[in-house]
Amino acid sequence: MTKRRAVIAGGGIGGLACGLALAQTGWEVEVLEQAPELAEVGAGIQVSPNGMAMLDRLGVTPMIEETLFEPEAIELRMGRTGRRVFRLPMKGYAQARWGKRFIQIHRADLHNALARALHAQPSAQLRTGAKITGYVRERGGASVYLERGDRVFGDLLVGADGVRSEIRQQMCGADRARFTGNVAWRSVVPVAALGDLAPPPFGVIWAGRGKHAVTTRVRGGAYVNFVGIVEQDDWTEEGWSIPGKIEDALADFGAWQPCLRAVLEASNGLFRWALYGRPPLATWCDGPVTLLGDAAHPMLPSMAQGAVMALEDAVVLADVLSGEPDRARAVQAYEAKRKPRVTRVQERSASNARMFHRHTGLGQLATYGPMAAASRLSVGAIQRQQDWIYGFNAAG
Ligand SMILES: Cc1cc2nc3c(=O)[nH]c(=O)nc-3n(C[C@H](O)[C@H](O)[C@H](O)COP(=O)(O)OP(=O)(O)OC[C@H]3O[C@@H](n4cnc5c(N)ncnc54)[C@H](O)[C@@H]3O)c2cc1C
Repeated sequence: MTKRRAVIAGGGIGGLACGLALAQTGWEVEVLEQAPELAEVGAGIQVSPNGMAMLDRLGVTPMIEETLFEPEAIELRMGRTGRRVFRLPMKGYAQARWGKRFIQIHRADLHNALARALHAQPSAQLRTGAKITGYVRERGGASVYLERGDRVFGDLLVGADGVRSEIRQQMCGADRARFTGNVAWRSVVPVAALGDLAPPPFGVIWAGRGKHAVTTRVRGGAYVNFVGIVEQDDWTEEGWSIPGKIEDALADFGAWQPCLRAVLEASNGLFRWALYGRPPLATWCDGPVTLLGDAAHPMLPSMAQGAVMALEDAVVLADVLSGEPDRARAVQAYEAKRKPRVTRVQERSASNARMFHRHTGLGQLATYGPMAAASRLSVGAIQRQQDWIYGFNAAG
């Protein structure tokens, strides 16, 4: 019997995971990536237990073991004073409560591992320098058009081509990605360059008026990863590699805790980019064509779930297709399974950003006071609030 063939638009974390999940369940797969070579840019990301469950299922966890970092805890602190609001123990606790670890990793390390795992699948191939300009439904499947003129057919087409997805645009009509009013800073700095001023060796969300920062560890703990999110409406440039000026970063965070200033001052490459999103889509399906990851549901990074949701999408899509030979019906079932969860995560990500950015002293007191009290009385109360997200196993 000839294998069913899937074409995947985009070789980011979502597209590679999807290609891998489909190849592992019997599909012939071609991933088409516009970049001339596969080089995942960006900084650190956190992978919560629900994401680790997907990496385990895909067989990727052993490939990241050497580069991941497992933080002792995640804390919320005030950026200016350093005062702790709550501490959520993670190392050991995450495994016990949610069945998997909570880890921090450089995006490039996760991306490389996914690419290697895909490469090891005899029925999968990845083509770079392949920019897709649109698709047409034909022969019960769909063909994509490439900028340089070829046309590539699949029985299934998955748009994993990010927040400005061409596939989404054709499926749902041209609407502009919406600037969220938030701009992100990022930098990765060796711990050795920071001496006594290294941020704590766990995940810290530093909250403040109209902005927050997150410090994590990557590359086995040898590097500090800094992300700063600032409400700002006069900067709308998007892209992972737009250099930012140190003085602008210091204007945002220089008066916060000395460890944050130290990271910015030691930065050898400081990047800044505008965060775009869009409201939940009416549909993710057009016959045997569907969307995945940021193409389907971009979100603010304030819950650290965008890549994790893409991993969950990939596994659910492959599983649904394994049980339903009619591809159009299968992708509808995939959308129905995924939409309520990702919509909730999108909404919670936006509300988390507002929660970290309280603009007044009164607002901060009303928000963080009860959180601090709850955390002192019972860590379990804070952990329970994460059950629906961290305790979920999309592989069923
Ligand atoms: C500051 C920040 C921190 C974050 N932290 C976390 C975190 O801690 N945990 C977490 O889970 N998530 C996090 N995220 C979110 C996460 O980065 C994204 O949700 C995730 O990378 C989305 O993956 P994707 O594959 O869907 O899309 P993308 O990563 O955008 O990949 C899309 C790919 O498609 C390619 N492409 C685009 N158009 C075309 C075309 N026309 N033809 C061919 N190829 C095309 C692109 O080149 C790209 O390679 C964070 C995001 C930000 C901004």
